[in-house]
Amino acid sequence: MTCGVAILGSTGSIGTATLQVLRRQRERFRVVALTAHSNAELLEGQAAEWRPAYVGLVNSGKRETGNEGGPRCLVEAATHPDVRIVVNAIVGAAGLEATLAALRAGKRVALANKEARAGGGEIVPVDSEHSAVLQCITGRRPGELARLILTASGGPFRTWTPERLAGATVAEALQHPTWKMGKKITVDSATLVNKALEVIEAHFLFGLPYPAVQVVVHPQSVVHAFVEFVDGSVLAQVGFPTMELPILYALTHPERVPDGGARRFDPVEAGALTFEPVRPELYPAYALGRAAGEQGGTAPAAFNAANEVAVQLFLEGRIRFGKIAETIERVLAAPWPPGARSLEDVLSADAVARRLAREAACF
Ligand code: NAD
Ligand code: MG
Repeated sequence: MTCGVAILGSTGSIGTATLQVLRRQRERFRVVALTAHSNAELLEGQAAEWRPAYVGLVNSGKRETGNEGGPRCLVEAATHPDVRIVVNAIVGAAGLEATLAALRAGKRVALANKEARAGGGEIVPVDSEHSAVLQCITGRRPGELARLILTASGGPFRTWTPERLAGATVAEALQHPTWKMGKKITVDSATLVNKALEVIEAHFLFGLPYPAVQVVVHPQSVVHAFVEFVDGSVLAQVGFPTMELPILYALTHPERVPDGGARRFDPVEAGALTFEPVRPELYPAYALGRAAGEQGGTAPAAFNAANEVAVQLFLEGRIRFGKIAETIERVLAAPWPPGARSLEDVLSADAVARRLAREAACF
């Protein structure tokens, strides 16, 4: 019997990489549900290839593909009775509600969507750094884990001066040195907001205090994470950058299955590997994100929402690059309620932060 998979955001970078993995794993998995935001044409092509039971287009201005449309379709796809694994490859806080619904329905959630956090149920990370950690700790007891060192490529501005960086253009910010990804996460990699979100995610996924979740800049993106155990031993997970391996592992964890898709690792080809500290003057938004994580409550949701708004304005050419961190800083200066017990708490903080961010970005 094959295992049913739903892909939320099937038309994006992670979504299409997931389908690429599933093409090689047809005897193990079948696609039960696909959703996309607005790329009806690609979604239609995917539906024709995979013949899923459920297809949903969120922005269903024209509804030629889907049997369903509107934001509800995410929850419907995620809770479909034939689905065992939900791959959440949506960008932004829009993915949160479907993640919670899937967990409540007892599904495994293969989570790429890091902008939203969820508790309970089985979350298996898709992100390469968290997959690396999971691969290193699987089979170990929780008390044996001491410290994580996540790697960051440093983005396209690693060697720039802070002055030049403040006026970086959209085209420059979208030149990621090692990964080909959606626009929003590519900008987040240039500000290191992406890494701050990953630190917050790692704190919750692996139960470590923030000081034990560290980051090092590693421009080659070959080592995905280091894991230190209580005895001082360190394991690392390595490979040429590809999301297909962490996606496959999220589907099969804790097992491994044969797969010939990704380029085999070769240390000589990988060449020299270098590591540098994060330079705070280049990545002010990174420290803001860590501080929001330490603050807890609704501050991480506010951090995420402020960043989403600022990145959108930057991509539209309406604010300069340096304004992204300034906007986040202003939003985080507001008093954020310490309690984030329900989806409503998080969504209301998200809404307030978006409003404040739009105001702050205008000054
Ligand atoms: P992308 O922009 O390429 O794709 C986003 C997908 O989400 C699209 O299918 C789109 O239709 C859908 N979507 C967007 N807004 C939506 C909304 N409001 N409602 C419903 N669907 C919506 O992005 P991506 O690079 O694939 O990233 C997706 C997620 O994975 C992000 O959370 C990102 O941080 C994370 N991630 C991506 C990579 C990567 O290599 N691309 C690596 C690690 C983590
Ligand atoms: Mg990552």
